[in-house]
Amino acid sequence: AEAALRAAEARFIANNPLSKAQQDLAVGAFPGGNTRTLLHTSPFPLCMKQGKDAYVWDVDGHKYVDFVGELTAGLLGHSHPTIHRTLLSTLSDTGLSLGATTAHEHTLAALLCARFRLDRVRMTSSGTEANLHALAGARHLTGRRRVVVFSGGYHGAVLSFPGGKPAANTVDARDFVVVPRYNDVSLAREVIKRTEDLAAVLVEPMQGAGGCIVGTREFLHGVRRAAGEKGVVFILDEVMTSRLAPGGLGSQMGLEPDLVTLGKYLGGGLAFGAFGGREEVMRVYDPRVEGALAHSGTFNNNTLVVRAGAAVLRDVYTAEVCVAFNERGEGFRERLRLAAKGSRLSVTGWGSLIGLHFTEDGMQEISCGEDLKGKERLDMRDLFWFEMLEAGFWTTRRGLIAMILGTPDDELDRFVEVVRGFLEKHRHTM
Ligand code: PLP
Repeated sequence: AEAALRAAEARFIANNPLSKAQQDLAVGAFPGGNTRTLLHTSPFPLCMKQGKDAYVWDVDGHKYVDFVGELTAGLLGHSHPTIHRTLLSTLSDTGLSLGATTAHEHTLAALLCARFRLDRVRMTSSGTEANLHALAGARHLTGRRRVVVFSGGYHGAVLSFPGGKPAANTVDARDFVVVPRYNDVSLAREVIKRTEDLAAVLVEPMQGAGGCIVGTREFLHGVRRAAGEKGVVFILDEVMTSRLAPGGLGSQMGLEPDLVTLGKYLGGGLAFGAFGGREEVMRVYDPRVEGALAHSGTFNNNTLVVRAGAAVLRDVYTAEVCVAFNERGEGFRERLRLAAKGSRLSVTGWGSLIGLHFTEDGMQEISCGEDLKGKERLDMRDLFWFEMLEAGFWTTRRGLIAMILGTPDDELDRFVEVVRGFLEKHRHTM
């Protein structure tokens, strides 16, 4: 395994001299050469030059099927004609942010409320901000501070809980109580019950960055009930999962959250976030109410995003398209699962989001990040990434595949075959 990985890395270095040159330049301005830690890969990241439809090209001229899908924000691909037209017409007819409310932002807000069954919504420029404001709202409403979250949960740049602890950059780590296992309903109920000064429970219906691990109905409903019994705000983070069903994954599972947070593709591929839900909770942000919280952000209603976002929900990612796309994802994942049968590769996810995990024993059931502890084969994961690049597939190093609407079927077929070939080839060397 070690030798195969070293050889793949050597080929990567030889094949990508211009990406390497770009990295050497970039470290002079960015710590580590980039402005998103996630995009750092060893020995150096690939530098992309262009994206079109469901493909990307790197600076050394290689073409890839884009399976990164901008970590779910790129759902519509790089050049969807409707989004393209909307952005051009916004530039020529509306102008950039107008420093005022516009009818366009209300159009998007109404579409979000209808689609995700929210009484009221507020928009932000990122999913991180959406979660921060949802938490601030819950604290204001309850007069309490603490928040129950789950190990492996990712709610944004400063709200991340890997390995059972708040990440070092989490906003005041003392405010968060981390349930050590996702999908463990009795543990979650116990932690919620005994935590004092509790304002909210924040949970993803499927842990996305945590490995595409789906929450069971029993777990999510149990957590929701425990939050209700305790009188705390139940916040469902659908930033990554709202694409998985017309009303989001939570609604597919029959959940009724107090607040929902959104983002990613809903801005048409531009910077976007939103939080919304029950009127009684969202009222804390109503400036006509005495003592209301302020929620600001220069770009919350920027014209490009709100018009592109409205086009997404109204014209492109309709409920019917969403259902068909995720059924296509189910089929694709099922074929990957079959190809991986009996190997060290496990396939997780839901609909159009797929998690690939290499483990010692090819685990069939992964219900939380802790199940993977000490069992992951990071050498195989990295070898897989190098070899998929050579076969023309741009995937995330960590193993998340976020499908794009316009990826041709024959590219999905080819990927299944390439994965099958990879597993066969390395069956004995690993
Ligand atoms: N919540 C979840 C579940 C996410 O996956 C992400 C981003 O990956 C965020 C929040 C943060 O969104 P953003 O990167 O737009 O701040």
